[in-house]
Amino acid sequence: MIEICEVGPRDGLQNEKKLVSTETKVELIQKLISNGIKNIEVTSFVNPKVVPQMADAEEVLNRLPNREDVRYGGLILSYSGLERALRTSVDFLHVTTATSDAFNLKNAKRTVNQSLDELTRAVQDGIQAGKGASGVLGTAFGCPYAGDVPVDDVLRAAESLLKAGCSEITLADTTGMANPAQVKSVIASFIAAFGDDLSLGLHFHNTRGLGLANTLAGYESGVRRFDSSIAGLGGCPFAPKAVGNVCTEDMVNMFYGMGIQTGTDLAQLIETAKWLEEYMERPLDGMLMKAGIA
Ligand code: ZN
Repeated sequence: MIEICEVGPRDGLQNEKKLVSTETKVELIQKLISNGIKNIEVTSFVNPKVVPQMADAEEVLNRLPNREDVRYGGLILSYSGLERALRTSVDFLHVTTATSDAFNLKNAKRTVNQSLDELTRAVQDGIQAGKGASGVLGTAFGCPYAGDVPVDDVLRAAESLLKAGCSEITLADTTGMANPAQVKSVIASFIAAFGDDLSLGLHFHNTRGLGLANTLAGYESGVRRFDSSIAGLGGCPFAPKAVGNVCTEDMVNMFYGMGIQTGTDLAQLIETAKWLEEYMERPLDGMLMKAGIA
């Protein structure tokens, strides 16, 4: 069994030009829940002037059904993001920093160390207020500005967020630079440093066509939690040419074909992807919704 963290409503939508209404975001999230998704990154608490698509974070959470069996996550980059998140019913803080200074200075206007200091406080206060905390490390497999990111820098950032109180770590390939051999090697370093008990997740972008190959490499290394985006929607406004996340229904199809459970309904996910494509008024990247289930 693998766990999917659906990031379409956040990572997916934030890079779309078409401004999506709060009502449609809530409808999308409700469809995903009825398709079997239990872990959803529903929004981000970031500067609305920089990411206008996420300006309605509070309103989205206000309108979502209260579901004990579903985990709603919200991305934060700063302490002010935490303050907004604490005024909502969000379940989990997705506390995010890049692991390369060059990228983080553009994305969060802070060095990695500055972000880690601020986020440590945010994690501690968030947990105190009853929220869960998940540490998300961007550019973990390479930075579009600085190139290679030493694995020691990624381990150090993870250690800092785990010490702060995060119950899990997700390694994000923000601009699709990872390859399967590297994925296996980074995971081996994480297991060597933190042991098998660490809840590790992976977040891949399909920028260079390696999203599913990297997902499979992660699975074969023992990872059981993967971020993905319905219809392959996604990107990042600060990452040049960062096209979509790994597509949820394409990933489910791969695991389904391998006999690995995901807890979702593949046919229904395809319907949701097609519905979204119609709403977005542009062809989306998902393959299965074009080819159909074999
Ligand atoms: Zn991403």
